[in-house]
Parts: sequence; structure tokens; C-alpha cells
Amino acid sequence: MILLLSVFQHCSYSQSPGAKKISMDNSKKDNKVYSRTDSAKIALTEDEWKKILPQEVYYISRQKGTERPWTSKYETSKEIGTYYCEVCGNALFKSDTKFESGCGWPSFYEPITKGSIIYAPDNASGMSRTEVMCGRCKGHLGHVFEDGPPPTGLRYCINGVVLDFEKAKEAEKKYNEKL
Ligand SMILES: [Zn+2]
Repeated sequence: MILLLSVFQHCSYSQSPGAKKISMDNSKKDNKVYSRTDSAKIALTEDEWKKILPQEVYYISRQKGTERPWTSKYETSKEIGTYYCEVCGNALFKSDTKFESGCGWPSFYEPITKGSIIYAPDNASGMSRTEVMCGRCKGHLGHVFEDGPPPTGLRYCINGVVLDFEKAKEAEKKYNEKL
């Protein structure tokens, strides 16, 4: 019964019940920590993460991998809504802070709240960069650079694999009213 309920809840997030969205929801069926409402921090072992995350999400989030540029469907998306952490459901960015940076990854100039993201110096690969991680699950998201647009001048360069998008209800309502 609990399982059925959680499946139903995931379905209710689905904005357009296409096959693609359903398969995305299925990818979270083993992920008991995913929640849009629970803000408690999550600490699992690497083995536990490996069990509940799809391989490519595990690779980016837990092994600090990088997806190939230009491969994310979110890179050029202009849809209005909220971007969540694909691993844990923590709200990360609003679509109105998204911009086309041309760098090949989804880019934003500001996180949704200060606590939604945590930062760490990253000197790997012979570069001095600032890594950005999810404030709830500490999963790797990408990096932040100081060549973004106003008002922050920042560019959060984020792997689309670890983003989960939900279209804004208001925007969808307005759109439907116009039809
Ligand atoms: Zn997270």
C-alpha cells in the first residue's frame, strides 16, 4: 500500500503523461530518500547510494562526474518552473534565473535559496574551481564561475542528469487558458 501511494505521488508530479516522464519516475522507485517536502539532510553510504540511484545519476552525483556537453534536454529549455535535485528532491533553481550560457550545460545565475546549495574548492584537473553540491544530499551538481550575467555575475554550470524539472502550475494554467 505504501509503495502504491508513493507511485501515485510521483505520478501526480507528471505534467505531461508521456512515456519519457513515466520512465523517469520509474527511475526513482528504489529511491526512498527522494522528497520534495522533507528537508532533513541525507547521509547514506556509497553502497546505499549505488543501490538506489540509476547508474548515470550515481556517476555524476556521487563520483563527481560530468555529463557530455550539449546532451541535457534542460540545456536549452525555456519552460517555466522549478529545478530540483534528481537525487533527493531538494529545490535548487527557478527557471527565471536560467540563461543560455552557450557552455553546453544548463546554466543559472542564482540558486533558489542560499541553503539549497553548498560550495567547496575544487582543485582537481589542474584547475581552480568552485564545486557546487546539493544542500540536502551533498550530491555533486557542477561548478560555479564568476562570468555570469547580472544581477549576480555568477554562472552555475549544472549537470542536467542530476536535475529534475517541474513545470510551474501557474504557467501551465495560463497556457491552457490561452488554448
Ligand atoms: Zn540532493
